[in-house]
Amino acid sequence: MSPAGMRLEAIHCLVCGSAGSTNVFTFYFDPTRAEFSKRFRDTTVRWNICKGCGFVYQSPRLPRALMERYYGGRFWKSSFEEENRNMASMVSEEERFLFIRNALLKRGREIRPCRVLDIGCGTGNCLDFLSERGFETYGIEPCVPYLPHLAKKHRVTSGVYDGVSGSLGRFPFIIASHVIEHVHDLDGFLGHLSTDVSPDGVLYLEFPNIYSLLGDLRLTCFPGYHLYAFTVSIATQLLARYGFALLGYDISDRWGTKTVFARSSGGPVPALAFPRPDDDARGLLRRHYRDWFFRRGWRDYVKSAFSRARGV
Ligand SMILES: [Zn+2]
Repeated sequence: MSPAGMRLEAIHCLVCGSAGSTNVFTFYFDPTRAEFSKRFRDTTVRWNICKGCGFVYQSPRLPRALMERYYGGRFWKSSFEEENRNMASMVSEEERFLFIRNALLKRGREIRPCRVLDIGCGTGNCLDFLSERGFETYGIEPCVPYLPHLAKKHRVTSGVYDGVSGSLGRFPFIIASHVIEHVHDLDGFLGHLSTDVSPDGVLYLEFPNIYSLLGDLRLTCFPGYHLYAFTVSIATQLLARYGFALLGYDISDRWGTKTVFARSSGGPVPALAFPRPDDDARGLLRRHYRDWFFRRGWRDYVKSAFSRARGV
């Protein structure tokens, strides 16, 4: 029990409903995560892997009302002052956009300027990028201190997605980057997404992946506000229940796995053939090693070989 008297809630697997799970690890007070741990210093949370489907989730976990109060404050430490936005973050926005564009092009679709909704838009970097390219930008953000800044350039709504869904019309393009792993009511969230996206609209989801080779387990499984560690196949199974088909994915990034889904209004969307259930951690790791090496690893390897040869 925590100092605030909050009750942790125990859950079953939200993907397959199974109660059976194996404890992966347990978090107690973590001095290196001071920001979180100061608030929840007596909290013990457990990460479990479902015996039924392989979904990795936290149980017991902190209750939703408490987490939403936390998100409403200064959740992010990063500054939203213009001068503090470094080049790296702008490049990653571009990388992300190119990834989405390429994933769609491979499936014979194009992304053109349209109404776009960024759920959990944070400091608005992604919306800024899209706004400069002609998109009509909408954001939802619970973190109150960001709102005045965001409102200068975008149509932003304060709060969490559940309370806003349905009030902004439909969107051909919805982004939820590093959001789904924070959502207590997964079914509610996905249900809202499926009605807020236009027929044949595109959904971009990005999430930390426990099987990401370069990912940091401690970054993926925060003791508290990350409730799940998704993988592409688990996300694909879940999204399929709401009419979304996977169009593209990339698990090679250290920070987040990128996925693009499309909602089909009529006939079936030609989905990317993706795997079997997730169980296949070894398969994911192999794929990851291979992708990482071919996309980036070899360049790093060559560069470091040259540096060594030059004695740098
Ligand atoms: Zn399960």
